[in-house]
Amino acid sequence: MNDKMWERTDDVMGHRPKFRVWCQFCDSDMAVRFSYIFPKPDLVNGFLEPGNLLAFKCQKCGYHVRFNIIDDNEYIQKIHALRGSVGYYYPISELRENELIEKQLAALGYWGGREK
Ligand SMILES: [Zn+2]
Repeated sequence: MNDKMWERTDDVMGHRPKFRVWCQFCDSDMAVRFSYIFPKPDLVNGFLEPGNLLAFKCQKCGYHVRFNIIDDNEYIQKIHALRGSVGYYYPISELRENELIEKQLAALGYWGGREK
């Protein structure tokens, strides 16, 4: 792990940046959209070492960036276990965004395809 850029959170997120993640296009702050932990080599996604893929999204224009944070297998296994052995983690802000999109689609007359 690059200690100048990242620090461990010891929670389900795994890592947080030590720098401001800003949008290259509109200079807004970017928020974590999802994290994907890969405790084993994941050739589908091209990861050979254990790590945490952190994806950020601009709250204003929607631009995405992804950071692939390689870390010790022991720590990555611990975060994976905290997530209930599920690779993906979506912060609450992502759920709010989905609810907003759902309301916008409903306003346009879209009825779903979503099971509740
Ligand atoms: Zn932006």
